[in-house]
Amino acid sequence: MDWSAYLSRQLSERRDTSLWRQRQVNQKSDGRFLYTVDDKYLNFSSNDYLGLSANSAVISAWQQGAEQYGVGSGGSGHIAGYTKAHQLLEQQLADWLGYPKALLFISGYSANQGVIAALMTKQDRIIADRLSHASLMEAAMHSPAQLRRFLHNQPESLADLLAKPCIGKTLVVTEGVFSMDGDYAPLADIHQQTKISGNWLMVDDAHGIGVCGEQGRGSCWQQKVKPEILIVTFGKAFGLSGAAVLCDEQTAEYLIQYARHLIYSTSMPPAQAQALSEAVRQIQAGDELRQRLQQNINYFRRQAQKLPFNLTDSTTAIQPLIVSDNELSISLSRYLQQKGIWVTAIRPPTVPPGSARLRITLTASHTLQDIDMLMEVLHEFRS
Ligand SMILES: *Cc1c(COP(=O)(O)O)cnc(C)c1O
Repeated sequence: MDWSAYLSRQLSERRDTSLWRQRQVNQKSDGRFLYTVDDKYLNFSSNDYLGLSANSAVISAWQQGAEQYGVGSGGSGHIAGYTKAHQLLEQQLADWLGYPKALLFISGYSANQGVIAALMTKQDRIIADRLSHASLMEAAMHSPAQLRRFLHNQPESLADLLAKPCIGKTLVVTEGVFSMDGDYAPLADIHQQTKISGNWLMVDDAHGIGVCGEQGRGSCWQQKVKPEILIVTFGKAFGLSGAAVLCDEQTAEYLIQYARHLIYSTSMPPAQAQALSEAVRQIQAGDELRQRLQQNINYFRRQAQKLPFNLTDSTTAIQPLIVSDNELSISLSRYLQQKGIWVTAIRPPTVPPGSARLRITLTASHTLQDIDMLMEVLHEFRS
C-alpha cells in the first residue's frame, strides 16, 4: 500500500471523529499563569499542584547540577549514566516512602511500560481498574499477559475477577488519584482483595504523590497501604519530569536485569536528579503549600455550588465541572479563554459519553481572587 494514501486515510478518519488533536506554542506556564505568544491567562489546567516548577531552590539545584555534571548523563544507567546524583535521589525516595529500593525512569509512561513488560509473561494476568491511565492500559495490552478490567473503584468487581483461575501470576493495577475525576481509589480494600488471593498490587500515584498524605507521601501512605509496586511521577506535583518505581530489593534487582526501558535508554540528566532531590525536600517541608492548595480546593467547591453545572465528589486538586454536552464544554472553554482563563474541555471518548467536562485543576499558587475571577466568568456565561 502507498504510504501517503495510508496516512491521509488515517488522518481524515481522525478529523471526522472530532478526535483531532493540536499542539499550541506557548511561552511558558506555571501553577498560576499560562503565557501564550501574545497573551497571559490564569491557568486552571496545570498539574504543577504545588507550584514547584518555578521554585527558586529547585531551579538553582538544577543549575548547580549542570555546572557540576554537564547537561546530559551520557548514557544508560547500565553504561555510564548512573551518577551520585541519581543514587542519592533513589535513596532519598526510598527512605521517604518507606521502601527498600527506588529505581528512576525517564518518565511515568516509560516506568509503566518498563515494569509491566519486564514482569509479565504469557501465563500471567493483569487486572486493572478500567479507568486507569493510558500508559498503564497500553503497557498491559502490549504485554503477553491476559488483561482484565474491573469496574472503576469497585473492589467487589476486582474480587470476582480474582476468583477466576489463572495459572500464572496476577498483577492488580490502579491509580491512587484518578486523573479525569479526581477521585481516590479505595486502596485498602483493593490491596486486601489482592493480598488474600496471594497476588501483587501496583499503584500509579502520579496525582497523589506530593499532594496528599503526611509529608506529601501520597495516597497510599494516606490510606496506610503499601503496594508491592508503587509508581511515582515527577511531572505533576514535583514540577519537573521523570518517575520512580518503589519496590523491594529482589524486584529492584530483577528490574535492573530485565527492564529494557532502563537498560536501553539514556538516564535522566544528573542535574535533573539533583533538582528532583531539592523538589523532594520542598515537598517534605511543604505542609504550608498543601494547606494553601486545600484552602483553594475548599473555596472552589463552596463557590462552585452556585454554578449551573455539576460538581463531582472529588476532594482533590482535580475538580471537574460536568457540563454533559460536548459542544457546550467547548464553547465554555473558548469563552473562558476570551476572558483570560485557561481551562481544558474534556470530551468522550476520554471520558464516558454524556460527561463532557471542564477539567479544572487547582494549585497552591492560585489565590482566592483567581478563583473568584473564574467563578465570575462562569456565571457570566450563563447569563
Ligand atoms: C501523567 C501520568 C503518567 C505519565 O507520566 P509522565 O511522567 O508524564 O510520562 C502516568 N500515569 C498517570 C496516572 C499520569 O497521570
